[in-house]
Amino acid sequence: MSAPPALDDVLAAARVVDLPLRTRFRGVEHREALLVRGPAGWGEFAPFPEYGPAESARWLAAALEAAWTGWPPPRRTSVPVNATVPAVPAAQVPAVLARYDGCTTAKVKVAEAGQHLGDDVARVRAVREVLGPAGRIRVDANAAWSVDDAARALAALAPVGLEYAEQPCATLEELAALRLRLARAGLDVPLAADESIRRAEDPLRVVAAGAADVVVLKVAPLAGVRPALAVAAACGLPVVVSSALDTSVGIAAGVALAAALPELPFACGLGTVALLAADVVAEPRVPVAGELAVGPVEPTGELLAGHAAAPERVRWWRERVAACWEHLPHG
Ligand SMILES: [Mg+2]
Repeated sequence: MSAPPALDDVLAAARVVDLPLRTRFRGVEHREALLVRGPAGWGEFAPFPEYGPAESARWLAAALEAAWTGWPPPRRTSVPVNATVPAVPAAQVPAVLARYDGCTTAKVKVAEAGQHLGDDVARVRAVREVLGPAGRIRVDANAAWSVDDAARALAALAPVGLEYAEQPCATLEELAALRLRLARAGLDVPLAADESIRRAEDPLRVVAAGAADVVVLKVAPLAGVRPALAVAAACGLPVVVSSALDTSVGIAAGVALAAALPELPFACGLGTVALLAADVVAEPRVPVAGELAVGPVEPTGELLAGHAAAPERVRWWRERVAACWEHLPHG
């Protein structure tokens, strides 16, 4: 563990990259990230552009942990990851799943605007057909359903066999009401909280509200692997480790969390490097035989230079780090 860096140390070791995406995500076609090399390795700072300094400071803390502190020791050498099926027509499902080598768990997007429940059912059934009876299927509604819509949709989807439903509704009150409805109807579909968890105190609110059976944790918004481990221990629910839209450097932090958790009952949502059309490491962290290896990543100078962001964007990111500095969580 090294002494915490000064702002100037971080800025001196920072590189900003601009990576093309394969498809639009959150309305953008490029993903920018500030990467920083410290004594412990590489860290990634890439809060979404609309996040202010206080919120972004947690992402910076996670990057500094990776680069200056290092992560707690791993308990496993690789972690399973899930395939991701966007809201595509059912006929495209086999082609999407073919991109994920050996993944036996799939996360399927449902409740897409402009689509109908029949589209979701057809898509989830197509996934079941490819994965077979042993495959695990989770659906993600990204908070789009009302309680009534969710109850109806999950009743229609449950016969296909669901591992859990991720953030079916927006609020904790709705999630809790839905959970009761499902239990009364005898539908065994666990609920997972994702969007409801953006900071350390949120999982405890989820538990207190009886809103979910599973929590989705991401390293960067929780300020690092260690804070995320503390959150997992405090909330006492099973954890799914997930990523935002990270380069292989950020993915390695998620893998470090998954590797350090005492229990890892679910495949991780860390297979997102496939959404990038380019990366900063020679061997991007994409799943092999359904698993991601645990361990450090090392961006190459060539790729960092080849994907360097434009000078005005580099300036913007460096100013962002400086703006976050005074908001860094302590302790
Ligand atoms: Mg989600």
